[in-house]
Amino acid sequence: MIWSREQSRNDSAIFIDRDGVINCRRADDYVLDWSQFVFVEGIREALRELASLRLPMILISNQSAIGRGLLEPAELEGITKRMWKTLEQDGTLLSAAYFCPHRPDEKCVCRKPQPELLKQAAADFAIDLTRSVLIGDSDADVKAAQAVGCHPVLFGQGLTACSDSPQWMQDVPVARSAKDLFEVTVGTLQKANPGATAVSPDVTSRR
Ligand SMILES: [Mg+2]
Ligand SMILES: [Zn+2]
Repeated sequence: MIWSREQSRNDSAIFIDRDGVINCRRADDYVLDWSQFVFVEGIREALRELASLRLPMILISNQSAIGRGLLEPAELEGITKRMWKTLEQDGTLLSAAYFCPHRPDEKCVCRKPQPELLKQAAADFAIDLTRSVLIGDSDADVKAAQAVGCHPVLFGQGLTACSDSPQWMQDVPVARSAKDLFEVTVGTLQKANPGATAVSPDVTSRR
């Protein structure tokens, strides 16, 4: 499923996981209603800074609550629109949102760590995944990105659960706080785009 704002043409993109990155994970539960959608501290400011790069910003999210019968697609669309609107008021425009609605046992091709949604978005927006980043908080995000040569950046709640450094975190750049997210993401984009001048913030729209 996808809701997209508009088509744009860019090589690089910023892919973003939702739960645990944009909104707080709910312990053993899903976000089934807008009232349960709580932004992670500092993420709105961080996303606004990232928006100053003027790259497509695309949500990539597993939402198995749909496959489990807990959430209707229209309800997810409602939550997505509210999130979209809130971010838009901040000056952050998301280009699109891609969701996998399946349960893990359905063995679909689109649930992260499968990279299918990244591939779809890359085709839809003419994105070069090897010049792009995916901001996520779990091993599924890191693995999905790495499967297609996209560069993972770790940020969010999934990390706090990992006191040690498991194998999947090795060599993955980490933003320990929302304040660090912009710099870590830009650094990663610059490494993915050697010699490019495209990845520089539009200074006028940065705070
Ligand atoms: Mg997550
Ligand atoms: Zn799926």
